[in-house]
Amino acid sequence: MFDYLIVGAGFAGSVLAERLANGSDKKVLICDKRPHIAGNAYDFYNDEGILIHKYGPHIFHTNSKDVFDYLSEFTEWRTYEHRVLASVDGMLVPMPINLDTINKLYGLNLTAFEVEDFLASLAEPCDQIKTSEDVVVSKVGRELYEKFFRNYTRKQWGLDPSELDASVTSRVPTRTTRDDRYFTDSYQAMPKHGYTRMFEKMLDHPNIKIMLNCDYQEIIEEIPFRELIYTGPIDAFFNYRYGKLPYRSLEFKHETHDMEQFQSAPVVNYPNEQAFTRITEFKYLTGQEHKKTSIVYEFPRAEGDPYYPVPRKENADLYAKYKTLADARSDVRFVGRLATYRYYNMDQIVAQALTEYGKMVGKKRQEAAAAKAAVGNSNGSSASVQTLNNAHLS
Ligand code: FAD
Ligand code: UDP
Repeated sequence: MFDYLIVGAGFAGSVLAERLANGSDKKVLICDKRPHIAGNAYDFYNDEGILIHKYGPHIFHTNSKDVFDYLSEFTEWRTYEHRVLASVDGMLVPMPINLDTINKLYGLNLTAFEVEDFLASLAEPCDQIKTSEDVVVSKVGRELYEKFFRNYTRKQWGLDPSELDASVTSRVPTRTTRDDRYFTDSYQAMPKHGYTRMFEKMLDHPNIKIMLNCDYQEIIEEIPFRELIYTGPIDAFFNYRYGKLPYRSLEFKHETHDMEQFQSAPVVNYPNEQAFTRITEFKYLTGQEHKKTSIVYEFPRAEGDPYYPVPRKENADLYAKYKTLADARSDVRFVGRLATYRYYNMDQIVAQALTEYGKMVGKKRQEAAAAKAAVGNSNGSSASVQTLNNAHLS
């Protein structure tokens, strides 16, 4: 008898599996319908031997010391500050928009003070910032909004920025300095040996069994367990009772090129002319040295695997109906980006899962992350992660 069946081996499911096994000595079965652990953060060495992220670039950054400390139990880190260029008007300029972006784009030589006035002269103040359009137009005006944000957002979401919550474009700041980092969090680093290796360490515990290629619906009647933790899409769990919740999908086109470097930045965004939104070159992220290089294009799609909840009022209302159903299910916990319909980064999902574990054991998140059971982790060898094959059941 398992104490828990956990659906989904991404950050949400794996953190909870680790905590329940290691912190509370519970017996856990974690299943994923994909053929691998690590959810969307899954990385692997491709045929050429280059470490790539199957589901697009995953860059770790957080301001939370306890989240960083918790993950540090399972990985060493490689310090990495992410940088992005945008291809606009035939030029490659820093994104987020900063002093150099403006000077390069307009052939100016403004100082940080002058650029502040310049942007203020373009900005169209707005009484109440409600949408993703308001966020940008009120800061940098319509022209820059159209060059950098309008088409990218339409492409990425299939919606105009005026139809999306302010939270979406608020993720990208505007700067008057020359700081060209994409993030300014206090901890910015990549797992030294990749995300999958980190997940293997998390799940390496005698109390944790893993089943891959396994939809939980195939086993839920067969395998005895006490409680369910669900990290898949919430609408699917309730059989789409109120209709489908919109999740945006992507198609990834991976390529390897016979050259050391493909582009001049880790990520280049293509807001306007192209059908894809961005190209990522993985060696920048991982620090790997290799005579070839692997890249990925992201093509936004309406159909396909659910990757992004779509932040807008009508979707929040529909989610609220599913949340009411979820709250009435005292036998199931809903955790993670798809199950709680939140546009959360990895660190926020780790924090959410640690908070959930804290609730289960009556501790605050920080204490919950640190608590160890008497039975410690086994021998730390990631090779010993046990996976059950779905075929074993039949
Ligand atoms: P997931 O990783 O989606 O895991 C859920 C798992 O549940 C999946 O593996 C799925 O197969 C499984 N599942 C679903 N239904 C079932 C079922 N019926 N039975 C069995 N298994 C099921 N965050 C960052 O912090 N930095 C980044 O740079 C970043 N870049 C991103 C880029 C892209 C293209 C995307 C899509 C996301 C990015 N994120 C990034 C967000 C990050 O991927 C998520 O925050 C994180 O992976 C969410 O973890 P999760 O466990 O909630 O969900
Ligand atoms: N965005 C944009 N142009 C850019 C970068 C971002 O319009 O060059 C908008 C777009 O709507 C995007 C959102 O800002 O979806 C958030 O960007 P972020 O880079 O955080 O997206 P993610 O990495 O989550 O896909």
